[in-house]
Amino acid sequence: MNIEVRHPEPLKWTIEVDGGWVAMIRLYPSGEVEWVGTRPNYQRKGFATLLWNHLVKAGVNPKHSACRLLEGDRWARKVGGELPPLHTVPCDKCGATSLI
Ligand SMILES: [Zn+2]
Repeated sequence: MNIEVRHPEPLKWTIEVDGGWVAMIRLYPSGEVEWVGTRPNYQRKGFATLLWNHLVKAGVNPKHSACRLLEGDRWARKVGGELPPLHTVPCDKCGATSLI
C-alpha cells in the first residue's frame, strides 16, 4: 500500500492510497476547516488525523471550525487544537439544521 499526501490546490490536501484519494481536507484562506472527510471504506483508520498532523507539521496552522457535525466534533476533540464552541442549529453560517 502506497500512502502519499498530495497538495493539488492551494487550500486542498489529500491522502492517496495506491493512486486514489481516501481523505481530503479543504481550508478557508483563514485556515479554518471548510471540509474534511474520509471515504467510507477508509474511515476510522486515522487518515484524516494523518492529514491534520501533516498540515500542523508543515506550518499551515489549520483551525477547527465551529460548524462541525457531531462526527466531526468527535474527530476535532481527538486530534486536538483550539476548539471553538460548536455552532447552534439552525446555523446561519453553514445552513445546518441538525447536529447529525
Ligand atoms: Zn454552522
